[in-house]
Amino acid sequence: MTLRIAILGGGIGGLAAAAFLHRAGLSCTVYEQASALTEIGAGLVAAPNTARLLRRLGVFEQFREHAVRLDVGWEFRRWQDGTVLSSEDLTTACERLYGEHTWTVHRADLLNVIRSRVPSESIRLGHRCAGVDLDGSPLRLRFADGRTVEADVVIGADGIHSVVRGALAGSAAAAYSGMCSFRALLPAAKAPAFARRPAQTLWIGPGRHLVHYPVSAGRLINLVAIAPAGGYTVESWTAAATLEELLAEFGGWDARLTALIRAADAPARWALLDRPPLTRWSHGGATLLGDAAHPMFPFYGQGAAQAIEDAAVLARCLAENPHNPSQALLGYERSRIPRTTMLQQVSHTRSGVNHLPDGPEQQRRDQAFAGQDPLVANGWIYGYDPDSDV
Ligand code: FAD
Repeated sequence: MTLRIAILGGGIGGLAAAAFLHRAGLSCTVYEQASALTEIGAGLVAAPNTARLLRRLGVFEQFREHAVRLDVGWEFRRWQDGTVLSSEDLTTACERLYGEHTWTVHRADLLNVIRSRVPSESIRLGHRCAGVDLDGSPLRLRFADGRTVEADVVIGADGIHSVVRGALAGSAAAAYSGMCSFRALLPAAKAPAFARRPAQTLWIGPGRHLVHYPVSAGRLINLVAIAPAGGYTVESWTAAATLEELLAEFGGWDARLTALIRAADAPARWALLDRPPLTRWSHGGATLLGDAAHPMFPFYGQGAAQAIEDAAVLARCLAENPHNPSQALLGYERSRIPRTTMLQQVSHTRSGVNHLPDGPEQQRRDQAFAGQDPLVANGWIYGYDPDSDV
């Protein structure tokens, strides 16, 4: 009997799961609520652990056409005057240590590249899931328009407000973190030279920070700022803000940074939500993947990376044990929960470190920055290979 696998959600995680399952010889169907597959404009960093899996999927050359190789590397700067607190040249270091480089990419490009490995007949758009019955056999998905679908395996890749997570782990609302994120793009032609370099630059200061790097083969510059949310609680990739609101967050910061913000298009803004790690992801033939399983603050730039890793491990577990999917899913969660929990935890801690007010603790942090080598210290993140972890 052919295993009927339903994936809920056609974001980076859901499509990566479909692509890896397809590569493993298992067919599946992705149900996505939106009427078109698209990622709203924003960039992300694809560290060596992401690049490794894109290569394995056979999409690396395509990815490279749209991405930017971060040769200049990572740079931390002080908020007030741009003093470089630490910098790391990545020209050869990533490849020497981990066999792959670090890249930046527009989310829409990454989604398209992954999607190219999913047969189009496996994707059903305009399917908003309204409920799941995980106790029957087969499992049953109910859609908002009244349609139902039966499946032997249900993969909840439906993001932080996951319906499947609600059914598996209870529907407690995600907690409000007190932080919000602004993101904006600007044409590279309008950006100052320092922002066009192939570097991820993090300006850190009291209570907030701003990251920028080029995306889209260098044609655009992506800005992401994390700042206090105040009373703002809207969690949406599309909620608009004004440049004035973003500028107000960075009043008094280095004039080069505020000039960069001024050159950007109107930003989007959304509240960062929080969910504690789960100790179980699966129930019978149903499981979770990506942000549905382990939403994390963006301080390590690993949310999408972890969703892609989940996808690789899940496909391998199901391919090795297709006659006992619930056993396969237990193997999957045993392999993935410790690592993603650790990333959720360190991402939490990092907000306190990056946002210290000026004072003795901040001075100790800045001194420590100079002696740190994040590329080596985070080897457990970048060196991971899911094929040797199952
Ligand atoms: P989502 O992208 O949320 O996709 C879920 C999909 O499910 C959506 O398409 C949605 O429409 C669909 N869906 C939801 N509900 C239903 C339903 N009921 N029925 C049908 N479909 C449904 N990660 C990195 O790796 N590197 C970075 O540099 C990085 N930077 C980030 C910066 C910021 C500011 C933020 C907020 C995140 C960042 N991330 C980064 C994290 C990354 O964006 C997420 O972890 C990743 O997008 C999660 O993918 P996902 O597929 O699990 O969920």
